[in-house]
Amino acid sequence: MLSSRRSPVGGAAASLSKQLWATYAQRAPARTYATVVPSQLQSGPTIDVTDKLPVHYSKDGKPKEKLVILGSGWAGYTLLRAIDKEKYDTYLVSPNTYFAMTPLLASAATGALEFRNVMEPVRETFDTYFWHAYCDGIDFAQKKVHLTPAYPPPFRAVDPTHHSHDAHESWKSQEEGRTYALPYDKLVIACGTYNRTFGTEGVKQNAWFLKDVQNSRAIRYRILECFEQAEHPDLTDEQRRNLLHFIVVGGGPTGAEFAAALYDLIRKDIKRIFPKLQPLAKITIFDAAGGILNSFDESLQEYAKKQFLHDGIDLKLNRKPIRVERGKFIVEPDGEVPFGMLVWSTGNAQGPLVNSIDEAKKDKSGALLTNGLLQVLAAGEGEATVEGKTVEGVYSLGDCAQIVDYSLPATAQVASQKAKYLANLLNGKTKTSSTTGQLEPFRWKNMGSMTRLSSSTGIAQLKGGKLQGKPASALWHSTYGLYLTITWRTKIGVAVTWILNALFGRSLSRM
Ligand SMILES: Cc1cc2nc3c(=O)[nH]c(=O)nc-3n(C[C@H](O)[C@H](O)[C@H](O)COP(=O)(O)OP(=O)(O)OC[C@H]3O[C@@H](n4cnc5c(N)ncnc54)[C@H](O)[C@@H]3O)c2cc1C
Repeated sequence: MLSSRRSPVGGAAASLSKQLWATYAQRAPARTYATVVPSQLQSGPTIDVTDKLPVHYSKDGKPKEKLVILGSGWAGYTLLRAIDKEKYDTYLVSPNTYFAMTPLLASAATGALEFRNVMEPVRETFDTYFWHAYCDGIDFAQKKVHLTPAYPPPFRAVDPTHHSHDAHESWKSQEEGRTYALPYDKLVIACGTYNRTFGTEGVKQNAWFLKDVQNSRAIRYRILECFEQAEHPDLTDEQRRNLLHFIVVGGGPTGAEFAAALYDLIRKDIKRIFPKLQPLAKITIFDAAGGILNSFDESLQEYAKKQFLHDGIDLKLNRKPIRVERGKFIVEPDGEVPFGMLVWSTGNAQGPLVNSIDEAKKDKSGALLTNGLLQVLAAGEGEATVEGKTVEGVYSLGDCAQIVDYSLPATAQVASQKAKYLANLLNGKTKTSSTTGQLEPFRWKNMGSMTRLSSSTGIAQLKGGKLQGKPASALWHSTYGLYLTITWRTKIGVAVTWILNALFGRSLSRM
């Protein structure tokens, strides 16, 4: 049992933070978020920290196994909370010091919730060592992960105007070159995915993404900036319309929910604060397919389309994006479409860590392939099969992994169910099948899916049937806002923010 719930490197980390802050405060002029790397921390050889780690013993007197979890998202954080800490010394590695409640990110981006309402600090998890770092490589032969510290400038995680990078790229590189090697007995790769851009020129530079809390912060900042700029008296109405044109590329659940949340903001609070500008604002969803929300039943797709048209959200379907320039979306057949903000939401691409792994089998999308016990399948000749050889001690789940011959959607639901399954497996609680005599493999229980189409409408496709309109919206709010949020602090925070918004409107200060 660990004596403290804090990281054993807490003292060192605290003094390092102090150094960073001191250096930052001296060097950084106001509103400049420069990279700060104290000279003594600059790059050098990878330091093996095996000897620096404490050894703890389980009840049977054996040293506890070291379980390293990469990623604090739906998969990693759910696993972390469910794993038996009496059995494992648990190490969490993530460039995020929090878990992000992704279904609520659109609400945070549009001020319907506060950022702290959609995140849980990972350091609150008992008996866990947490390192705020990126895993940049894995030495499977030596059973070690190579970590690069991911310290952002203190107190100002990411410059909110620096929207132009993939969710995590802006975090990286601050201490690039300084790495250390952490040993593992069991490793869980749960590092999620990046945004898929299909190689479209200019997306990373000129579009906004919605994948993490920093993204939602950047989006909120930009929406309000567009309205503030459009208020200036020297602009023509055409210039104002261009600034207040909000484009969403991708009509899947994330894009559609963001468009809906933005519509709510404009319809209610923007109308109150910028009454003259509100009629000039417009939302357009572009999609390459002929419809939106294609994972839903056809009647629900139709309902969503009608709802969006009713709300004045323009749908431009069967479109081919060519490139994104600053303030201009070039798309066929429309040509040049001006915008104030373009949110790109066209699915997932594997990140650099997963791409760098040559020792594992992968599917067409580059996701790691596992067997039904979520063990990563070793690379080698021939087709991947569930009986294939595995990489010793390595598991993978969440958006970066798929089970061979059992592909599942990249959702929080699948990620968290896999995490609970893996916790049971590692805790030694998985049942043996009476027919095969082997451990029961993972099986997904489809709990249905739902999407919000405004603050009072939505669609839900459930096991027992379909819902649309107000009942679906009520279900969405109670499930994501209250039931699935984790701590009482967050649940109460969400409820209080909703009540305050209903009474006084959203607080729309730019941060
Ligand atoms: C806006 C939005 C809304 C969504 N809404 C829903 C919904 O309503 N319902 C639903 O079921 N699903 C929803 N999803 C999908 C769902 O969020 C994902 O399927 C889920 O987050 C996948 O979990 P994960 O743990 O694999 O990845 P993530 O939750 O993305 O977590 C990945 C973690 O790995 C960390 N990481 C990244 N690189 C490294 C590295 N090199 N080393 C260490 N750590 C690393 C990240 O910082 C992060 O902590 C939504 C997604 C988004 C973006």
